[in-house]
Amino acid sequence: MKISRITVWQMDLPLSEPYWLSGGRLKFERLDSTFVRIDTDEGVSGWGEGCPWGNTYLPAHGSGIRAGLELLAPAVIGHDPCALDALNRVMDTALPGHPYVKSAIDIACWDILGQVAGLPLWKLLGGAEAQPVLVNSSISTGTPDEMLALIRKASAKGYKVHSAKVGGSDVATDIERIEAISAGLSDGESVTFDVNRAWTPGVAVQVLNSVVARDWVEQPCETLEQCAHVAGRVANPIMLDESLHTFGDHLDAWKRRACEGVKVKPNRVGGLTKARQIRDFGVSVGWQMHIEDVGGSALADTAAIHLASSTPDAHRLASWLCHYHLSIDPVPGQGARNVDGITTPPSAPGLGVSLDENILGTPIAVYERGHTL
Ligand code: MG
Repeated sequence: MKISRITVWQMDLPLSEPYWLSGGRLKFERLDSTFVRIDTDEGVSGWGEGCPWGNTYLPAHGSGIRAGLELLAPAVIGHDPCALDALNRVMDTALPGHPYVKSAIDIACWDILGQVAGLPLWKLLGGAEAQPVLVNSSISTGTPDEMLALIRKASAKGYKVHSAKVGGSDVATDIERIEAISAGLSDGESVTFDVNRAWTPGVAVQVLNSVVARDWVEQPCETLEQCAHVAGRVANPIMLDESLHTFGDHLDAWKRRACEGVKVKPNRVGGLTKARQIRDFGVSVGWQMHIEDVGGSALADTAAIHLASSTPDAHRLASWLCHYHLSIDPVPGQGARNVDGITTPPSAPGLGVSLDENILGTPIAVYERGHTL
């Protein structure tokens, strides 16, 4: 089987409500998503999506994906979509680095592999059954009262795990937010305080050594080195997110004892092939992981939930579903959805999500062997 055509669409995904990270330092109102359909010479097609969270969250942006696809598409057309490791080597040779550009192609090829094998992705990724996955909320930053009100709203939808965004303000405000939220949770609820790299190491040590709360703290500072410094001086377990892009970054984090867990996001690391490698490493070294995507519709969410579901319980925390923040749903009713705080991946062969071209409109590019339309 060979890849015969790659079709690319762009879609703006508006958020239902504006979203702030890092104490209002970063604001988001819409996401720029890229959808890819890969066709093969045997009539099987697969879908993928790449959607950075805006252009200020990571060194990634929507038009960067589409520019990268111009280089990658001619390189992968003619290759076997089911030989995922080989296909990733082709992409890494054609365009070193730029992992976020590659995830939509990689996910679409996993979708094809699943359909050819007649197996859902959770099984191909190592799962024995479609294990349900806890869903976590994502709480935009604000005053302690505003944030607790958002947590109560999320609790009403069944969420028991929350990710509360802090940082970007003064030390006293962050101490107040953390203590109020940690103390305000109901029985059976848990929270991670996601700093989104807003603290300097000094502020991180000051805040975390002042609070009683011993909840997870995520990406306290900008760099891996700074986070490792903090991890050695505080009692809270540390989770890393934005500073990890390659397998080597994860290896470095482990060597430096910078964290007890990581976020595994296919778009950030280059797709499901590389996310699986990182997940397996995380299991080997005893990390606890949140496995979810950077952003996107229920299509991107579902790819990540297949990986989360196939991860052993002891190493799987909860997963965030980006599509709950969107005011449109390009794949209505399909894929991994929140049902009272729990989501389960589809058991149809492949990804289990496909797009209606009438919803997508006119493609922005069609790549075929020898020419571009
Ligand atoms: Mg995070």
